[in-house]
Amino acid sequence: MPTAPLPLDAETAAPMVRASSAARALNLIGDRWTLLALYAAFMGETRFDGFIKLTGMARSLLVDRLGRLETAGVLERRAYQQRPVRHDYHLTAMGADLYDAALMILRWEKLWHFDPASPSHNIEHVACGRPLTAEMVCKACGEAVTARDVELVPGPGAGLEPAPRARLQRRSTTETAQPLHPMLERSIAVLGDRWTAHLLAAAFYGLRRFKDLQAELGAATNILADRLARLVELGMLERRLYQTRPERWEYRLTDEARDLFPLIAALIAWGDRWLAGEAGPPEVLIHKPCGQPLEPVVRCGACHGAVDVRSTRLGRP
Ligand SMILES: [Zn+2]
Ligand SMILES: [Zn+2]
Repeated sequence: MPTAPLPLDAETAAPMVRASSAARALNLIGDRWTLLALYAAFMGETRFDGFIKLTGMARSLLVDRLGRLETAGVLERRAYQQRPVRHDYHLTAMGADLYDAALMILRWEKLWHFDPASPSHNIEHVACGRPLTAEMVCKACGEAVTARDVELVPGPGAGLEPAPRARLQRRSTTETAQPLHPMLERSIAVLGDRWTAHLLAAAFYGLRRFKDLQAELGAATNILADRLARLVELGMLERRLYQTRPERWEYRLTDEARDLFPLIAALIAWGDRWLAGEAGPPEVLIHKPCGQPLEPVVRCGACHGAVDVRSTRLGRP
């Protein structure tokens, strides 16, 4: 496998990678247990024991992920009792703003892996009373957003930044235990590992070859090879021979994977709003059919009305 020479950050010696709002967002949420904790928060859970009950997480894992989400500003801890002091966890404005991304995950799951028994596949839109399958459209022209119709151009905050550190991938029995609810299993298989999530995002940027993907992610060769194989196995990437002597393969998104683009667009929009800082967005998405910068709008696919966390409720499975 070819190895890309990566520039290193002067202080931490971390590889430097292209700044991207999708990558910044995935660094925060692209983790199995973080996704489950957020899922519970969006289902209205606030108490520690409630999170445990809904997600089946070990207490130590939950403490860790709630702490990370609090540090990131996605959740806030509030005292609900004084003697003894007890805290619960609420989505901040920044956390609640991830709802568009959550709806895009559910949309994809419903379309490709519908499970009538899954509570999250039976969410209703209160305004029209119908089962919710959210859709993403361009604010300027109202057309549905697809990967094919979008082009990326550098934004005011374009540049390089240190790649985040790889977390230790220890597979203890706790880490591989099945959650109590079979929900989100497909999304978690795809997004619940930071590297697979980043790989998919990089593929949307048109990167197909090992060396290019490695330069984009700053990942070690063995990690990258492992995650590419996993995504091929999951049916999200397709391997194609592009050179025979020596054999070289490139990786293309399958139709199922391409249909995850609205999620990536939602994460970019969220990262632009909350993580871009004064420099501004590192890149701008252009909606080619109308030529305008893409401002994604998430709405109900049935009545086209607005959707937020207060306008949805759990239906009957
Ligand atoms: Zn448009
Ligand atoms: Zn509706």
